[in-house]
Amino acid sequence: MRSKIIAASLALIMAIPPVSYAEKLPDMGDVSQQGLSKQQEREIGESAMRQIRRSGIMIEDPEIIAFLSAMGNRLTDAAEVYEPQFTFFPLLDSSVNAFAIPGGFVGVHTGLIVQAQHESEVASVLAHEVAHVTQNHIARLIEGMKASPWLSLAGIAAAIVAGSMGRGDAAAAAIAATTAVSVQRQLDYTYSFEQEADRIGMQTLQKSGYDPAAMAVFFERLQKHNRIVENNAPEYLRTHPVTMKRISDAQNRLGDSKYRQVPDSAEFLFMREKSRALQFGGREAVSYYQKTINEKRYASEAAQHYGLAFAYYLNREYEPAWQALQKTKAVFGTKSHPTLEYLAGSIRLAQGNSSEAVKILSEASVRFSGSRALLYGLLDSQIEAGMYEQAKAGLDDALAMYASDAQLYQRAAKLYGKQGKAMLQHQMQGEYYLRLKEYSSALEQFNLALRQPNPDFYVQSGVEARIREIESLDQPKKK
Ligand SMILES: [Zn+2]
Repeated sequence: MRSKIIAASLALIMAIPPVSYAEKLPDMGDVSQQGLSKQQEREIGESAMRQIRRSGIMIEDPEIIAFLSAMGNRLTDAAEVYEPQFTFFPLLDSSVNAFAIPGGFVGVHTGLIVQAQHESEVASVLAHEVAHVTQNHIARLIEGMKASPWLSLAGIAAAIVAGSMGRGDAAAAAIAATTAVSVQRQLDYTYSFEQEADRIGMQTLQKSGYDPAAMAVFFERLQKHNRIVENNAPEYLRTHPVTMKRISDAQNRLGDSKYRQVPDSAEFLFMREKSRALQFGGREAVSYYQKTINEKRYASEAAQHYGLAFAYYLNREYEPAWQALQKTKAVFGTKSHPTLEYLAGSIRLAQGNSSEAVKILSEASVRFSGSRALLYGLLDSQIEAGMYEQAKAGLDDALAMYASDAQLYQRAAKLYGKQGKAMLQHQMQGEYYLRLKEYSSALEQFNLALRQPNPDFYVQSGVEARIREIESLDQPKKK
């Protein structure tokens, strides 16, 4: 298995020309003799993120993203990590896995969320991955191979993508393997890194208020699962061999600290079913939830009905989706939940009833302020309903708060498009690509903005400044 990974990664690195020649991207240069700077780590991470996003398996679901970000932030706060700024993102992949990329990016397969029996189990894996980043494990592996003259930062990013997408944080192993680092040294590295990530991750788990016993429990279940499904071991096991030693280490670290089962949040219970439904796809998900509800096989009745409602929605059966959602609300209780209101608005919007969607989502946005999904849903519905002034006011407020949120710029572009304001539309679409670090697409949009008739002077100078910024990125960096 390992030799296949090595071959694939090598082939990728050799085949991919330096990114700066192929596209208008910043010249990332080569790994210097001094090792990686923080800036270089960030650039490796951003390059890897571009490649993962382009592969199409990253999911843009605002609720799953918010769930992972809240969990991740709780962990990094507990660990008192202020640098780098972490980004937690979901990938639609049923294998049980998570991986860290230099620069603070942590990818989480939906399979990990789906297979976890409790929220703290997901947290235990995230805490482990956060530790890989804070302890500079991947950066240290890369530094160990600075003797390879042909290895550019872009090549390293490609190796990480090849390693992580299929094989979890074997990324580290793949990187080490593509270098002159001796096999023994690589094994020493990865073994000690895994131990260190376990140890520090567990401390973080404890401090953050998640169940510290979850790590050992999860390891144990993965190992059992591994024995049952010989040829279909979870990816996390292939990249993180769970030995008896790892389980007992985790148990020993618990020591006498009191075992406390932390109750699962409604967010986790709902997002686990949303992830599961997305993995199945609409039709199959509907059958799964019908069957489990009939047989009363579930951990949370409300979450199971939500799963059915969302599955119908995915399958474009909007009336059954609405009915299942009413059932969910009845089971969940009178308080409702932002996720249930978001689905209600989404169903009405999909049915073409945008004014009803606006009503649901604007009321919910007041009740559950701070929900990004509700904000996006409301903006989409207002644009669809032709309420351009309200949408513009909402966007202005939101952009003042979340200036780095790419999704908001995409909605601004849509709004201006509907209003026939082409120059602003291309400017906003350019700002969207800029947030994703997709520089060539951003440039294209900014140039299109300049070519529109009757230019607005202020917009024009703003766009020209952006073009100069991007072009200055293209200059080789002085060492
Ligand atoms: Zn690890």
